[in-house]
Amino acid sequence: MSDYKMLIGGELVEGDHAMDVINPATEEIFATVARASERQADEAIEAAATAFPGWTEVPLAERQAKVSQLADAIVANADRLARALTQEQGKPLAEAQGEIAWAEGYLRHYATLQIAERTIQDDADGLIRVRRKPLGVVAGIIAWNFPLLVACWKIGPAVIAGNSIVLKPAPTTPVTALMLGELCRDIFPAGVVNIITDANDLGGYLTADPRIAKVGFTGSTATGKKIMASAADGLKRLTLELGGNDPGIVLDDVDVRATAQGIFNAAFLNCGQVCLAIKRAYVHDSIYDAMCDELARLAEAAVVDDGLAQGAQIGPIQNKAQYEKVKAFLESARRDGTIVAGGEVIDRAGYFLRPTIVRDVTDGDEIVDEEQFGPILPVIRYSDIDDVVARANASPYGLGASVWSSDVERGMSVADRIESGSVWVNQHVAIGPHIAMAGVKSSGLGVEQSEEGLAEYTQLSVINVARGG
Ligand code: NAD
Repeated sequence: MSDYKMLIGGELVEGDHAMDVINPATEEIFATVARASERQADEAIEAAATAFPGWTEVPLAERQAKVSQLADAIVANADRLARALTQEQGKPLAEAQGEIAWAEGYLRHYATLQIAERTIQDDADGLIRVRRKPLGVVAGIIAWNFPLLVACWKIGPAVIAGNSIVLKPAPTTPVTALMLGELCRDIFPAGVVNIITDANDLGGYLTADPRIAKVGFTGSTATGKKIMASAADGLKRLTLELGGNDPGIVLDDVDVRATAQGIFNAAFLNCGQVCLAIKRAYVHDSIYDAMCDELARLAEAAVVDDGLAQGAQIGPIQNKAQYEKVKAFLESARRDGTIVAGGEVIDRAGYFLRPTIVRDVTDGDEIVDEEQFGPILPVIRYSDIDDVVARANASPYGLGASVWSSDVERGMSVADRIESGSVWVNQHVAIGPHIAMAGVKSSGLGVEQSEEGLAEYTQLSVINVARGG
């Protein structure tokens, strides 16, 4: 018997297989969960397809009320969700509580959104209405860094727009998604929300299925490309939120201490496993040494521990494969630059690495060019604004970026030149359900959040009526 079951067709079901979930802070099994076979993935798609016509007929206000109820249920279960989130993902309990509060807030906002329909002509000659219809069955496929929040990013807009959904979490973080399934069972009509798990073997099965109308995906660029290829046959709709290599550009006029704290927080949130983390800091020559010293001081002071331990600020890396990947980045950083803080694997069970600051690296070095997705921050020296803008833009990614300056106008004029879906001034990862979030270049396709994001879960349809003569 597994500890957590899947939600298929309104029932909590055992898997044809089971899988163990490892706590990355201890490397011990902390739960055994149901895992779907292809037969069960097929059942989930069929349940969603069967539920879709009825769900589209449910008035928007009722669909909104259901999403609000899900937010209420998350609040009512916040403590056990937060604990499970820390145990499966590794993040400190306070961050897990923050993720749950975010999930609630996003759902509450989705529940206020209207499906924007417009009348563009209504006169004696005719009536033209631009309508927005739901698409059908959505496949939501997500990564392991924010398993509860991003599950809500897929479920909320999909069902508000009148679609049904099959959600599949990442294989290493299935628990909170399955707990969400337990809550959804008591709220949504059978089949509207289905949650299945896999061992990294069912994503392609879902995206290839002709009954799937849209794929909402959060994950790596490599997998995003595979999904795009797989979706081509049925011309499925896609929203792809992919990788990033966000630059933080620090101008010469900043308060070093305050800015270092902002950069540090944005680089090491969730142990650096954030699509929108600062992954390369460009610092002006005149303050380069001072900024490196301050970042190193913050890194040395950070408390790295099991996320359930009192006072933990940075937890472990989420899974062994990512841990090995980040350790390889550490070696290349050591080769190419100078490590001024961290750089050590912690001698204990769990996938722990101290937050690491590496200086004297530059573009062309692996730790600068690639997405490390872990607790290593390269700090790069620059002296010319045009040059740093060109270097920031030379990346194949374009998810987020930030410019730090005591002169906001000056910061904005540099921000304006950065090719990125989000560009912040004097902050980073400032996201919200009302703020459109997009990736340019290899960071993604389409938009999430806000009315623009909701529109991507609909199909535009025009009714054009002749009147008079
Ligand atoms: P991943 O692409 O390996 O896996 C993501 C999901 O895709 C998992 O559920 C996985 O099982 C599934 N999957 C694997 N192969 C598939 C296939 N062929 N078809 C369909 N689905 C498949 O990514 P990851 O390693 O879990 O996550 C890390 C990456 O995600 C990083 O690059 C990070 O930047 C990115 N990410 C982006 C955002 C964003 O909003 N832009 C948010 C979080 C993470």
